[in-house]
Amino acid sequence: RAKGEGRSTVRFFEPEMDAAEQERQELETDLRQAIARGELDLHYQPALDLKTGRVVGFEALARWTHPTLGPIPPDRFIPLAEDGKLIVSLGELVLARACAAAASWPAPTRVAVNVSPAQFESEDLVAKVADALARSGLPASRLELEITETVLIGDDDKVMRQLEALRALGVRIALDDFGTGYSSLSYLRRFAFDRIKIDRSFIRDIDDPDTAAIVRAIVGLGCRLGIAITAEGIETEDQLARVKAEGCAEAQGWLIGRPGTAEAARSRIAQRAA
Ligand code: C2E
Ligand code: MG
Ligand code: MG
Ligand code: MG
Repeated sequence: RAKGEGRSTVRFFEPEMDAAEQERQELETDLRQAIARGELDLHYQPALDLKTGRVVGFEALARWTHPTLGPIPPDRFIPLAEDGKLIVSLGELVLARACAAAASWPAPTRVAVNVSPAQFESEDLVAKVADALARSGLPASRLELEITETVLIGDDDKVMRQLEALRALGVRIALDDFGTGYSSLSYLRRFAFDRIKIDRSFIRDIDDPDTAAIVRAIVGLGCRLGIAITAEGIETEDQLARVKAEGCAEAQGWLIGRPGTAEAARSRIAQRAA
């Protein structure tokens, strides 16, 4: 009886599992092809300097429009790319494109690029970054790399060496989605980040006095440690006023600007100059 039941259970679940897994594999194959053909797009989201009210940089965000399925959100295809190590070639593509775009912007406009943990596992991240800078002619000081604390999990000397080497190139390093992980504070002792990006979940709840107190504490910490603070996910005038009052250096979010094409970024810069 047990044997028969086991078998029927397996028969019942297997086709479903197969369908999901098959879909995943097909999507991965399509993504591999899209990367190989350079068919990913980059969108750019402005960052606002809260002292001057000027746009001082843009974050490059990968976009993928599947030929039949349409736009696939990054929260779907980035994890897919990370599973299959495709993220290394995706990361290279993004880095090259972002540096090339930023090299055409007036100095000192920055570009920020997200870097995944797997990119630190490949030996040559530092060389790849140096290469992207050299090919584009973008000064290193105008490139910022955003990492999340998952990069630092495991207390890996190799990661620290790479971060130091990137820093030695003159590239800036930001800690992204700050406050969402398990031990964000401990990472501040291990590497001298140039920037902390406060996760948008804190900004969403900034009306709550306890959340506002946490944001204030992070800003205070940044001030003591010499780390610039960016508030992510600003959607309302009220949120903008609050993070400004709390002393954040920069802000990003839909209110300031949605991620847009390279063209849109250029016209935003032109508008600033005018
Ligand atoms: P992230 O680096 O934290 O990027 C910010 C995300 O928040 C972006 O989502 C952006 O569109 C969204 N966002 C910005 N302002 C607002 C706002 O005011 N409200 C709301 N609700 N959302 C806002 P997106 O573009 O979907 O990217 C999601 C994540 O995918 C990124 O989070 C990043 O972790 C990852 N990602 C995107 N492009 C790349 C890439 O080229 N390489 C790597 N490794 N990861 C990437
Ligand atoms: Mg980011
Ligand atoms: Mg973020
Ligand atoms: Mg994020």
